[in-house]
Amino acid sequence: MGKNINVNKGKDISAMDAGYYLCHGCHSVIASNISHENKDACMRCGTKLYFRKPNSLIKTWALLVTAVILVFPANIFPIMRVNSLGVPDDSTIISGIIYFFQEGNYSIGIIIFVASILVPFFKITGICLILLSIYFKWNISLKQKALMFRFIKFVGRWSMLDIFVISVLQAFISFGYLTSVEPASGAIYFTGVVVITMFAAITFDPRLIWDI
Ligand SMILES: [Zn+2]
Repeated sequence: MGKNINVNKGKDISAMDAGYYLCHGCHSVIASNISHENKDACMRCGTKLYFRKPNSLIKTWALLVTAVILVFPANIFPIMRVNSLGVPDDSTIISGIIYFFQEGNYSIGIIIFVASILVPFFKITGICLILLSIYFKWNISLKQKALMFRFIKFVGRWSMLDIFVISVLQAFISFGYLTSVEPASGAIYFTGVVVITMFAAITFDPRLIWDI
């Protein structure tokens, strides 16, 4: 707090270097050296002000590790139970994909593969690479940094897409007469992976990409 505003013309500096806050409540840009009643809070909406999300890196790491741990039960335990004429049949994500391929339903098999294996894999490795690049201060071009920034924003906003795709598929797949489909324990872990990667993206302060 109380940082002097110091803008060097022609030099590439961040708003933080220049002493400006971005309010996360109302997106107001506030100079840290102007005096108002409560200096720690936004004068427009009252949200607490900080230059970077507090403990962003460690929180994102913790959430990412949790998501990686949950990937295992999500794939090992059955994700759904199909009751066909009273005979229950459990299927995991992988066995479900194999089933659709064997039945010749390639499009459904591919959609489930993309939504439940490929997308979570890219989200987890993507966030992991960004965190590693910051931790080890990798030399990355500005264009790549902008790409990383957009990736994080996308994961934060559209992360529920895979759960949505799977639920829509479940509603569309016709299992025939006297058949019911119910989610099994693996579905809880899979939802955990999706929700936790989403929170990891939200907890991460993407401006840290440019700080190094
Ligand atoms: Zn505000």
